[in-house]
Amino acid sequence: MKIKLHNLIFVGMAAGVVIGIGLWWVKKHALDAGNPEPAFVAQVMWWLDLLGPTIFMGALKMIIAPLILASIVAGVTSLPNMKELGAIGWKTMAYYIGTTTIAVTIGLVLVLVIKPGKQAAAMEIRAKRIAELEQYRGDYEAASGKQAVDANGLARPGYITWLAQQEGEVAAHGHEASRFSKLSGAKDRTPGDIFKDDIIRPLLTNPFSALAASPPNSLGIIFFSLLLGIACTVVGGEKAKPVISFFHAMNAVIMKVTHWLMSISPFAIACIMGKLVAENGPEIFETLGWYCGTVIGAILLHVCVLVVIAATIGGVGPIRLWMGIREAWMIAFTTRSSAATLPITIENVTKKLDVSPKVANFSLPLGATMNMDGTALYEGVAVIFLIQIYGGLDDVSIAMTMMTTLLIFITAVLASVGAAAVPDAGLVTMVLVASAVHLPIYYIPIIFAVDAFLDMFRTSTNVLGDSIGAIVVNRLERGRLRAPPS
Ligand code: ASP
Repeated sequence: MKIKLHNLIFVGMAAGVVIGIGLWWVKKHALDAGNPEPAFVAQVMWWLDLLGPTIFMGALKMIIAPLILASIVAGVTSLPNMKELGAIGWKTMAYYIGTTTIAVTIGLVLVLVIKPGKQAAAMEIRAKRIAELEQYRGDYEAASGKQAVDANGLARPGYITWLAQQEGEVAAHGHEASRFSKLSGAKDRTPGDIFKDDIIRPLLTNPFSALAASPPNSLGIIFFSLLLGIACTVVGGEKAKPVISFFHAMNAVIMKVTHWLMSISPFAIACIMGKLVAENGPEIFETLGWYCGTVIGAILLHVCVLVVIAATIGGVGPIRLWMGIREAWMIAFTTRSSAATLPITIENVTKKLDVSPKVANFSLPLGATMNMDGTALYEGVAVIFLIQIYGGLDDVSIAMTMMTTLLIFITAVLASVGAAAVPDAGLVTMVLVASAVHLPIYYIPIIFAVDAFLDMFRTSTNVLGDSIGAIVVNRLERGRLRAPPS
């Protein structure tokens, strides 16, 4: 009897969790007893890292750039006419804007209602911080001979600058130093800078450097492939035929490589999951349980909205939807990269949900790069959670007004568009949202511990949103897609 791939992937995920908990338990017991980490744990971790993240994810990443190029050129050149490209394009964008807006709204409503940053565990974090700030005030006053706060109890600018320096130094030398340095590199950027540097500039780059970048510059590849596809259609006839045939053939060949990779995915997924669980362990949820619950609750609500959209506008019911995209969903959940999942998403959506490759080849690479519902939702929840904990302290004079909420809303959407489709990307672009409301970025590391876990939920939601987008546009365009080329 041949076991179905999705069942094997599921077994792989479960086996990974078991292996991970086993390793974490052995490690914890050795450390609690005052012994060093057993050597075999480090060896097993090395193998898990080699087989999962290094080989499997490396192979997926290897095919993303040529896949995006070939699939978009093939998609555009197989459309009956340019009017069709325009129709698919605007419907896809309208769907992305609509669903991302819904996602952020759900996240903001839930975090404001549940108030995870006001629960007991969060209040302990706040109390600890208040004690730390008392200490800092004393140190500042002793070092500078100036008062840290004015007559109204407000922190003076000199003290805030000094505080930021101290915190920057602590974070830059702590065990999360490398992740923190990514955050500090991203601060001081306005939404305008993000728009110019992360959206416009990458669009207009040399296609070879866009293909060669690591991770690939997807926006640049998409823009160039669109241009190439349109030019092929406009030139048409015998002249453009070799170029068109080349990209169609390339697309088919890369999909073959995708099939090979899918067949080893259950084993690779066990390794990725095992490593992740062993590194983090269940302890991380002790203080951040409410926060994780809020993010996951909001994501589940958003998934319900997406499923309703798929059923009503896309004509695909929940069961058929799940059967169609379960492999892509599980791979997104484990790899935490929409880009790495892209080949499988295209395969699932076209082969199992009958979406025309003409739509899928165009909209899915675009969606993986720009449409991140889970990420947008998460950015808003995370920043408000931090404001709930630290709001009103010396260096966080932020009030949760309508204006602050609106600013968080807009920047969360922008940050999700700017985020690369790779693990942890949302955490880095969150700096934009935090900076927009003047939340010091040295408060972000507190949520590092659970980020990988939450990234699984947001990435799988991102991929789900992209897949439903393709289903919806396919349904809306099906009449015209059947029309003969003009
Ligand atoms: N990992 C996510 C993705 O690839 C992006 C994020 O970090 O939110 O879709």
